[in-house]
Amino acid sequence: MPKYQILRVTVLAPRSSWKTPAYGELWKASEDSETWLLGCPACGLVAFLRHDVKLVDGRPTITPSVVCPDPGCGAHYFVVNGEVQPC
Ligand SMILES: [Zn+2]
Repeated sequence: MPKYQILRVTVLAPRSSWKTPAYGELWKASEDSETWLLGCPACGLVAFLRHDVKLVDGRPTITPSVVCPDPGCGAHYFVVNGEVQPC
């Protein structure tokens, strides 16, 4: 798996935008929720995260590791300080 980085943290607005492929983008669903969505850095599929997300200087660390829900992709990786590290 090539080296990827989480590109952007964005407060998500319209629901229609959730379908947009967003390679390596991490979105918070709203300012006052702890619901996050992540665009798979390998295939761009946007999916809900049921993970712990901590931001330090805007760089996310996600625990535990993330597995892409698209069976055709199957990317499995850690995100540490915005860097994607394949498992
Ligand atoms: Zn994927």
